[in-house]
Amino acid sequence: MTVTPSRHAEISGAGFAGLTAAIALARRGWSVRVHERADQLREQGAGIVLWHNTLKVLEDFGLIDEINAGSMTPPFYETRVQNKIVSDEGMPGIWWRTMTRPFLHSVLAGAARREGVEIVAGSEVVGATEEGVIRLASGAELEADLVVGADGVGSSVRDSLGIDYERQRSRDGISRFLVPRRKADLQKIEPGTDWDNMIDFWNFDPRVLRVLYTPANDRELYLALMAPADDVEGSAVPIDLDVWTSIHPQLTPVLEEAAKVEGKYFGYQTTRLEEWTRGRVALVGDAAHAMCPALAQGGGCAMANAYTLAQAASDAPLSELPDALVEWERLERPYTDRCQTRSQHYADTRGMSQGNQFVGENNETTLYDPTDPHRHDVAAR
Ligand SMILES: Cc1cc2nc3c(=O)[nH]c(=O)nc-3n(C[C@H](O)[C@H](O)[C@H](O)COP(=O)(O)OP(=O)(O)OC[C@H]3O[C@@H](n4cnc5c(N)ncnc54)[C@H](O)[C@@H]3O)c2cc1C
Repeated sequence: MTVTPSRHAEISGAGFAGLTAAIALARRGWSVRVHERADQLREQGAGIVLWHNTLKVLEDFGLIDEINAGSMTPPFYETRVQNKIVSDEGMPGIWWRTMTRPFLHSVLAGAARREGVEIVAGSEVVGATEEGVIRLASGAELEADLVVGADGVGSSVRDSLGIDYERQRSRDGISRFLVPRRKADLQKIEPGTDWDNMIDFWNFDPRVLRVLYTPANDRELYLALMAPADDVEGSAVPIDLDVWTSIHPQLTPVLEEAAKVEGKYFGYQTTRLEEWTRGRVALVGDAAHAMCPALAQGGGCAMANAYTLAQAASDAPLSELPDALVEWERLERPYTDRCQTRSQHYADTRGMSQGNQFVGENNETTLYDPTDPHRHDVAAR
């Protein structure tokens, strides 16, 4: 690993992308400050699935024992349509873990602080210049060798630079909840089911309502409830318990728990930028490449790209940093572009309902290893 002393980075956003970039840069000798708009540093979402690409980054950071202690790998990824099993994927050879978002966020924030990263909550970034100056809502202007825009889909850093983008919205959206497992109660309803599996319950008739059931650890279950945006009852939060239990009665105990939580319905979208970098500024995560969640890779790409960005920025002489960022985008972006395209395709077609989806080219991003210095040689063969 190249250690580059006397370099300074300012990062906008303390989500998964911003914290990963911060840790990776600090470990390479940079002084790093992260600005988080929210008054408190926390992740509000429910659960997340991480795959080989992201787990390799966490392994490189020395965080795998901590991650393992608070996460799990379900035995199978099961797909059902109208409650009939279509496939049970054991995914041999694929490293994957399920966990809660607050847990992952606290692991990353703790690691960043141990690496000496300064994290400033309640600090809103309003823009940046390509020369490497970040502007805060407070009026302060801070100079850096590298500015990272990791400030999510509504990125102020991206918009202040006038970087153009296309946004493609999907017809479906999801409400996400963290609820108690209630495994014994579920077993009473369906004793033959392994309630430790991740189960993708699709239903098309009489209406499209999908439940993605993801055990996150021994105690907590991540429920993602998908409904078309134009289904007023299906997309309502708090959820309409009668509507959801009429379609998925076998999940009544956990749907009752979800109905107690306020929640928020999110539409899916794909955002494609004309470029990810401008001068000394690089964009990463949803600021650069938001994607539909079909392949569960938005956070994975965010963290993998944040990691490789830190590598590329550290390996270049400071005077050549803008060129190094362009080269980083040239090498890393095609994997993310293809993942966005596949994820949008599955969102458009609802094709994940066919089962057996974690195979072949769908696993390209999953199996990518951002820590492998020869990864591009392998891809070129
Ligand atoms: C339903 C759904 C399910 C998903 N499931 C998965 C999954 O299983 N696996 C997976 O890998 N991905 C998944 N994703 C995608 C993943 O959640 C995102 O890609 C990921 O969280 C993006 O991280 P980020 O750090 O880029 O952005 P964000 O999480 O949006 O973080 C941005 C941060 O920047 C802060 N911020 C914003 N503006 C400013 C500003 N002006 N100044 C300072 N701070 C600012 C925000 O407060 C926030 O803390 C899913 C997405 C959805 C919608």
